Amino acid sequence: MSFSSDVKMYICQTGYECPCCRLSELAGFFRFTGRINDAAVKIASTVDAVNKRMIESLTAEVGGRVMDDDNKTVLPEAMERLEKLLNEAALNNECCQISFLRGAFLGGGSVSDPEKEYHLEFGANNEREANYIISVLQVYGFNPKMTQRKKKEVVYIKESSQIADLIGYLTNGMAGLEVLTAQVEKEIRGNITRQVNCDSANLNKLAKASSRHIMAIKKIKDAGKWESIPEVLREIGELRLENPEASLEALGRMTKQGIGKSGVNHRLNRIIEFAEGLD
Ligand SMILES: [Zn+2]
Repeated sequence: MSFSSDVKMYICQTGYECPCCRLSELAGFFRFTGRINDAAVKIASTVDAVNKRMIESLTAEVGGRVMDDDNKTVLPEAMERLEKLLNEAALNNECCQISFLRGAFLGGGSVSDPEKEYHLEFGANNEREANYIISVLQVYGFNPKMTQRKKKEVVYIKESSQIADLIGYLTNGMAGLEVLTAQVEKEIRGNITRQVNCDSANLNKLAKASSRHIMAIKKIKDAGKWESIPEVLREIGELRLENPEASLEALGRMTKQGIGKSGVNHRLNRIIEFAEGLD
């Protein structure tokens, strides 16, 4: 299985946050998998979970029989009913916009194995669709580019941190995501210290635990309260700042007392709680 397929399988495990999310996802899928006015629209992803999810959604939204005997071709009458629903669908909620992106990725998206290259793309049928997805991506702080390939408009992202972010949105930050983004994070981790000075919202998503600690420490420092917290917390905090890549065990060994992993975890959590209490 490719990295792309893995991501799609994780997307297929996400739920729908509001009643409109499922329709929004279908909208994304059908806009990016084939022309909505085609006589024969197919649901034929190489990832079975995608086909299953789309057929289930389609059945739930339009009702009745939706697929031809081959179980790949959408019946024209079902497509017509869906089209009517899509015309009325509003993508105003954040959850629905993310659902739209999920559908678009499931329908026409792919992402390269981050060990080889950083590239995530949505293949759109025309410029209007491409521009639409660009506008949605921009709302969430992404900076996509557009190019043409084989008569398709390709909307793509090349930056590893943005790809990691977007995969996070698409898979709803599921546990499995940690495995998937491990490769991406590996690259990012080395840059944590430098990125601490960057946009905090962005950083927060990037490097999970370590960045949560670092942000908390920074927040306390920025508030001028660092000296007011217990010395043992300041010690672990400074060590975390200096060693963003270190494991909890390694941090523990660096302390004067040589505390264990759970002790380190406890102290870092106290720092986070203190930082949260500053709001
Ligand atoms: Zn929604």
